Amino acid sequence: MSEVHGVGEARTGLVVMKFGGTSLEDAKAMLRTVSIVRGRREKGLSSIVVVSAMAKVTDQLLAAATAAGRGDKAGALAIAARLRNRHIETAADLLCGEFFAAIEREIRARFDSLDDLLRGIAAVGELTPRTGDKVVSYGERISSQMVAAAFAQHELNGVHVDARKCIVTDDHYGKAAPQEDAIERKLNELVLPLVEAGYTPVMGGFIGATVDGITTTLGRGGSDFTAALVGGGLHAGAIEIWTDVNGIMTTDPRICPDALRVKTISFEEAAELAYFGAKVLHPATILPAVQKSIPVWVLNSRNPENEGTKITAMAPPCASPFKSIAAKKRLTIIDVVASRMLMSHGYLKAVFDVFDKYHCAIDMVSTSEVSISVTVDSNQRLPEICAELGKIADVKLEGHKALICMVGEDIRGRSGISSRVFSAIRHINVRMISQGASEINMSFMIEESDVEEAVRSLHAEFFVDPDPTVFDAETGVVAKA
Ligand code: ADP
Ligand code: ASP
Ligand code: MG
Repeated sequence: MSEVHGVGEARTGLVVMKFGGTSLEDAKAMLRTVSIVRGRREKGLSSIVVVSAMAKVTDQLLAAATAAGRGDKAGALAIAARLRNRHIETAADLLCGEFFAAIEREIRARFDSLDDLLRGIAAVGELTPRTGDKVVSYGERISSQMVAAAFAQHELNGVHVDARKCIVTDDHYGKAAPQEDAIERKLNELVLPLVEAGYTPVMGGFIGATVDGITTTLGRGGSDFTAALVGGGLHAGAIEIWTDVNGIMTTDPRICPDALRVKTISFEEAAELAYFGAKVLHPATILPAVQKSIPVWVLNSRNPENEGTKITAMAPPCASPFKSIAAKKRLTIIDVVASRMLMSHGYLKAVFDVFDKYHCAIDMVSTSEVSISVTVDSNQRLPEICAELGKIADVKLEGHKALICMVGEDIRGRSGISSRVFSAIRHINVRMISQGASEINMSFMIEESDVEEAVRSLHAEFFVDPDPTVFDAETGVVAKA
């Protein structure tokens, strides 16, 4: 991966590199980021580095916050103590001399204030979304200081930037919306001068702050989004998402170890995959990059020589109708049944207004003569939504559902695709079907317990045991005819 393209006013010599928690699990992994960033510098590129919390830290901070919220002070502080030790031990393996001494002081000071915060939450016995964001922000705040120190020690001129000074958001705690104009101004004011002076700025992903300086987060997996906001805001030449797999694969390699790397995929296809459950990218990542036509690469920090996946405006044709299969679990189907009113003026609006009111995103919709079925994330505010829908119709819920989403430009105009898909999973009960208006996805709902089986069957049908004559050199997908 040496290519960095410039488009329009892009800063072709600037690359935003994001390292996920899986690339920062210990000192050894952090040292790999040092050599990857050094590689970019040796090619004459400047980097801005965005990092996640160390692997699993966000989950543990959330567990500490939840324990404190139910008044379990001892449980919360015990989790924080384990995290404190892990960070100090990692810093000791990573850094030496004054670099270590300075970071150790920082880590202790941060964890002292985290302990105070957890004690406060436990005393009140209530966790608000706002304090929850404050607690989880510690993961990225500390990891970014450690990585910046490692870059400083290894002559990469690492300098820490507090992401909360640049990533301005609204106050929708837990899933704050970035304010892109303000972010662009802050990045130009605070980060660009550092790059121009030869530093490597390192900032935490996932976290931001309101205009009043209150800490917020962008939603789980949000460091990818930060990288795209920084890349978009500064018109970088490329955005690199460094993770623990060789790129975007034909499906989650944890479900199918024989998944293949997709060489090139369009913004549209990648966005669809991310939205429908492919954890490899945060769903919002693509937008800031698309707006500025900045190519995004997904790369493997454990195998940096691999070319990875390139996400660009146009996808080249592919031998397979599909490029990848995603699955989204923990969905609920809501059937809204109203015998005579369905087609009456204003009825559909009344139904969808309820979902809008509770900020509840709908993944799939299907209608019949008398009912509307929609699928939503199970952790949404379902009881309130159903109570309100109940005023205008009969409402029925079915939980533990999952959505399988098959994505590819080549579904367009290919006949016989549906019959291949549904005969591959003929032994599985399919509840709702939709072929996206964009014509680049085909999705259907199944039981959550059938996901692995369905994905393996579909993957075997479309990607395994390929005919060598249809190897697709450009997309890298080896597919059956
Ligand atoms: P990071 O810590 O780098 O952000 P994530 O765990 O968020 O990493 O995302 C990487 C994981 O996404 C991979 O380990 C893989 O199991 C999962 N994944 C799901 N679908 C796909 C896919 N289509 N291609 C690649 N990885 C996928
Ligand atoms: N650390 C955050 C999370 O685990 C953000 C990220 O990793 O992208 O969700
Ligand atoms: Mg991630």
